[in-house]
Amino acid sequence: MLKPRETIAALSPYRSPILSREGLTLDLNESMAGCSPHVLARLHSLSAADVSRYPQRETGERLVGNFLGLAPEQVLVTNGMDEALSLVFTAYLDANDELLFADPTFVMYPMLGAAVGAKVVRVQSGEDLALPVADLLARISPRTRVIAIANPNNPTGLAAERADLLKIVESAPNAAVVIDEAYFEFCGGALKCSTLIPDLARYPNLFVARTFSKAYGLAGLRLGVLTGAAGQIDYLRRLSLPFNVNSVVLACLEEALADGSFVSEHVAQIRHGREQLERLFGELGVRFWPSETNFVLVRLGDSAKAFVESMKRHRILVRDFSASPGCEGCVRITVATPKQMEEVLPAIRESFAEALRS
Ligand code: PMP
Repeated sequence: MLKPRETIAALSPYRSPILSREGLTLDLNESMAGCSPHVLARLHSLSAADVSRYPQRETGERLVGNFLGLAPEQVLVTNGMDEALSLVFTAYLDANDELLFADPTFVMYPMLGAAVGAKVVRVQSGEDLALPVADLLARISPRTRVIAIANPNNPTGLAAERADLLKIVESAPNAAVVIDEAYFEFCGGALKCSTLIPDLARYPNLFVARTFSKAYGLAGLRLGVLTGAAGQIDYLRRLSLPFNVNSVVLACLEEALADGSFVSEHVAQIRHGREQLERLFGELGVRFWPSETNFVLVRLGDSAKAFVESMKRHRILVRDFSASPGCEGCVRITVATPKQMEEVLPAIRESFAEALRS
């Protein structure tokens, strides 16, 4: 009987949280504000030729390179950031190599590591859920070939210090260190996270990944960005499929990058919304993690499940993270628009009270 490779047969099926999503979906950290009207206008103006021809990602790489202050050779555009991560994992991890990351973090890291048959080495964060820098450094071995760190992190919303991240990059010169900056645009709370893009010139083993799925509101169009040393990006370009990014999103890229005021207004609203959530959780006396992202993680303990169910009855979906190591009893809530927050905040209050009673 036909069988796939052992590592593929051993994968657990991916259960998409997108199935049966009715109501306000605050469970996937999407933009509740939509996208730039200029991007929408560009979409409406697409011609038959725009879609009947194969896409040219090189134009997109020049635009993104300009925007980030990098040479186009240092930029690879990808089908969402998920593909960027997949390319790095596939390029650097052999079957017996180690993928290193700290829990809790983005669920795709272990999935992609398992898919290439790598040994997945997980370091557990402490009670504060901050990046366990010393423990990560201690687990770097000659077999460590990829280290993945989301900054700011999902699901905690916490940012790590630039100096700590650089220490990790310097301590693992034979490993590809991917700093996943999916939520970078939302930074700017007390901790002030900084990007590692300016450090790419000094570290040939460093990669920084970005996405248009969050602050730009283009999750459905699928556009990610992988940046790194030109020599390493060249290897990944050979591995990636030549037409990985579709022509529709490439046609909208210039408008998306040019509409800085859409992004900055959206980010300002997200910061205000997450402060509202944090204030409410403070009032309710529950533990939350101060967020640098477009979501907030809160610990509700034994009430978590009942809370999520009650929110669902209010037609608001939020995500139970109890199955994530270190996040037992935690729920992650995406920040909604100011108008939606007028319904979300009272619904949280009522669901919290209801969950306590149950
Ligand atoms: N990294 C992190 C930390 C994320 O949370 C996500 C999306 N939830 C991604 C990467 C993937 O984003 P994309 O939509 O660009 O594939």
